[in-house]
Amino acid sequence: MQTTTDAIAALKRKLGSRLCILGHHYENDAVIQHCDITGDSLELARRIPDITAEHIVFCGVYFMGESAALLAAPGQHVYLPAPDADCAMSLMAPGERARAVLACLHAGGRPVIPVAYVNTTLALKAVVGEYGGTVCTSANARTVLRWALDQGRGVLFLPDRHLARNTGRQLGLNESNWCQLELDEQGLTPAEQDKSHPLWQADMLLWPGCCPIHEELTEAQVLAMRAAHPGCTVVAHPECRPEVIALCDGAGSTSYIIREAARLADEKPGSTLVVGTETNLVQRLGRRHAATCTVLPLAQAICPDMAKITEARLLTLLEGIAAGTAEALTVDPAQCPPARLTLTRMLDICAR
Ligand code: SF4
Repeated sequence: MQTTTDAIAALKRKLGSRLCILGHHYENDAVIQHCDITGDSLELARRIPDITAEHIVFCGVYFMGESAALLAAPGQHVYLPAPDADCAMSLMAPGERARAVLACLHAGGRPVIPVAYVNTTLALKAVVGEYGGTVCTSANARTVLRWALDQGRGVLFLPDRHLARNTGRQLGLNESNWCQLELDEQGLTPAEQDKSHPLWQADMLLWPGCCPIHEELTEAQVLAMRAAHPGCTVVAHPECRPEVIALCDGAGSTSYIIREAARLADEKPGSTLVVGTETNLVQRLGRRHAATCTVLPLAQAICPDMAKITEARLLTLLEGIAAGTAEALTVDPAQCPPARLTLTRMLDICAR
C-alpha cells in the first residue's frame, strides 16, 4: 500500500516544475522532507520573486502565506496546507486596533513611526505603511529601530514587546523612556488617552504582544541547563523575555542560531549548545551536528500552529492542486500597495 510520503512524492513528480513547496524551519521533518526551499519567514519571502512555478505551497502559518501572496507574480497561486494555522503573536495586533491607536496618537500631537515585526498580518502591515512606518525582522531590528528613532517623533513597536525591549537594550537605549501600552479592544484606554499618561512623552511605545511559545522559556531553565552541562553555550531567539536573554551567551534570529550551531560544531567539537527556540529546529540542528557536538533544547517549545501542517494535509492539498480544485489564498488588493511599501522601506533602510 502506498504511504502518504510516497503519494506526496508521486504528486510532486506529476506536477513537476509547476509546483514549488516552501517550508519554515519550525516544521517537523516529515513535512520538511518534501520542501524544495526551507528557511525562516524572511528568507522564504525573499525567495518568492525568483520562483517561476505556477503553484506555490507554503508550509507555515497564515501571515507567511499572505507575504508570499503579496510578493507572488500575476498568475502564480499561493496555498497553505493548513489555512487554520495562524501565528498567535500576529493575531495580537489587529490592523484596525493599530489604526485606532495611531490615529489617536497623531491627532494628539504624537506622530510616532510604527515599526512592525514581520510576524504580522497583511492588514497590520498596510496600516503601518499608511502611517509612514516599516517592518523589521529579528535579524535587522536594531538597524530599523535606530532609523525610526532618528526621525525624532517617537516609535510604536508592535506586536512583540520582548523583541522591542531586547533590541532597545542592544542599542543601549534608556529604558525609562519606554512605555508599555495596555490598550483595550478599541485602542488606547481612557487613562492612556489622558495627556498626563507617560506614553505621551515616551521615546518608544511597546505594543502588548509576544510569542506565547518563546515567552514560556524561563531564567530557571537557563540556570538548570548551565548546571547540568557545565561550559555549555546558551543562545536564544530574541522573542524570549529580556530576563532570559540576559542569561544567555548570545541571541539572534533563526538564521543566527543555525550559523551559531555550525560555528560551534566547526570550532569547538565536543561542546554543548543549548538553544531557546522552537523545538523542531533545535532537534534538527542536533541531528545535523551529532557527529561533532551536542545541541539541546532549552525546554520543550512546540508551536501548535506550525504543528497543524502535517503530511496528510499536504497530501490533500496537492491532490486538490492536481485536480484543479484547491483554493488559493487571496489577499485584499487594497492592502497590497501600503503593505508592499513597508517591505520596500525596510530593504531601503537596511541597504544604507
Ligand atoms: S512560534 Fe510564535 S511567532 Fe512563530 S508562528 Fe508560532 S506563535 Fe507565531
